[in-house]
Amino acid sequence: MVILVTKSISDTQGSKYVKEVFESVKKRNPHEPEFHQAVKEILDSLIPVFDKHPKYMEQGVLERIVEPERVITFRVPWVDDNGKVQVNRGFRVQFNSAIGPYKGGLRFHPSVNASIIKFLGFEQIFKNSLTGQPIGGGKGGSDFDPKGKSDAEIMRFCQSFMTELAKHIGPDTDVPAGDIGVGAREIGYMFGQYKRLQNAFHSGVLTGKAVGFGGSLGRTEATGYGTVYFVQEMLKDKGLDFKDSTVVVSGSGNVAIYAIKKAQELGAKVVACSDSNGYIYDKNGIDLETVKRLKEVERKRISEYVKEHPDADYFEGCENIWLIPCDIALPCATQNEIDETSAKILVTNGVKAVGEGANMPSTLEAVEIFLENDVLFGPGKAANAGGVAVSALEMAQNSARISWTFEEVDTKLHEIMVNIYRNSMNASEEYGHPGNLVVGSNIAGFLKVADAMIAQGVI
Ligand code: GLU
Repeated sequence: MVILVTKSISDTQGSKYVKEVFESVKKRNPHEPEFHQAVKEILDSLIPVFDKHPKYMEQGVLERIVEPERVITFRVPWVDDNGKVQVNRGFRVQFNSAIGPYKGGLRFHPSVNASIIKFLGFEQIFKNSLTGQPIGGGKGGSDFDPKGKSDAEIMRFCQSFMTELAKHIGPDTDVPAGDIGVGAREIGYMFGQYKRLQNAFHSGVLTGKAVGFGGSLGRTEATGYGTVYFVQEMLKDKGLDFKDSTVVVSGSGNVAIYAIKKAQELGAKVVACSDSNGYIYDKNGIDLETVKRLKEVERKRISEYVKEHPDADYFEGCENIWLIPCDIALPCATQNEIDETSAKILVTNGVKAVGEGANMPSTLEAVEIFLENDVLFGPGKAANAGGVAVSALEMAQNSARISWTFEEVDTKLHEIMVNIYRNSMNASEEYGHPGNLVVGSNIAGFLKVADAMIAQGVI
């Protein structure tokens, strides 16, 4: 698979270096396809950097950056409501601390394994750097499936998970937060257990807390709003906007809900959203209050929506959501949800912009289709960085023992997203791939971390 920039420069020093490092990543990390995919995308985009500045090769930055500083796996035993002992596997990958404490979410989902956590942790290094905030990259989680579990089971699991994780984290060491399957409820239970174990109120040890005990206003909305702010910048440059556009948003979790809300506020008609079983199509535009109640309060399937909205249709198979013609696609569900075929369909149906609210929702082949067809493409590590950016603002407020208003946080989030867009565009131009935000965001994110790594010596 030839990706992005390697077509034009096949035999430079930089491309040879990248190839060598990638081969060794595959060899040293067998059976980790998602990790390979994330590494491949980033490494290929960095070729122009190594060609221009050989010092990054000489200092072995790439060999070091692809190797996590620390990988922790642990047993998470807990007792279910029937008194049966259950055992899950816990992970925390502390990938890179060159520019700040490890920072990144925890994912609770049955698909979680070392490959998934490493791909997410690797992406997080560059994403966090792009935010301009002083945060390193990390990620964690468990193969625990929260679906269908009682509240008491969730609490017991979270307490057991934190009992081990607590040994490895801290407000200046590693600061986890939420991701798929981990929201305010889970963060609350984990924070409670951490506080009990430490006998100290270290509010900055986790972000995404409820506002009543150190959470930041605007954190809940941040990833979804940030994705829309980012896409707004992409559209603006081409004289387009959200107003009167037709939008498809996959997912119906926290990211999707607030992406829908902001897109609607900006005058878009959001006609579809999904969960892992299927998707709803509402030609009148999605009623977000129904989606929010079903998913956040009642924790039901999205198919229930059509019972309350008879004009809407429900279809099995969430991947088919991309068959719906739209101007703007916001994949906000999970990795690899848009493959080559879906990307081609989106292009044929005239999609103008794709903004990734999820992490790596487009396969490498899908990304190529978008770029080749001049679709405005906002890669996840840039477009969804608003969540972790506001997490860093939560850490700042916790350190200073102050709380900003929603408006203050939202204004800062907006500025951060505009800056990420500008910096990524500038890097894409400076390194010879104008407008390619995959290349631009990877380079802009990389340079700051690479310079810090060099300044700190070979560690
Ligand atoms: N899980 C989110 C992400 O993928 C947020 C992480 C955080 O707030 O630390 O960036």
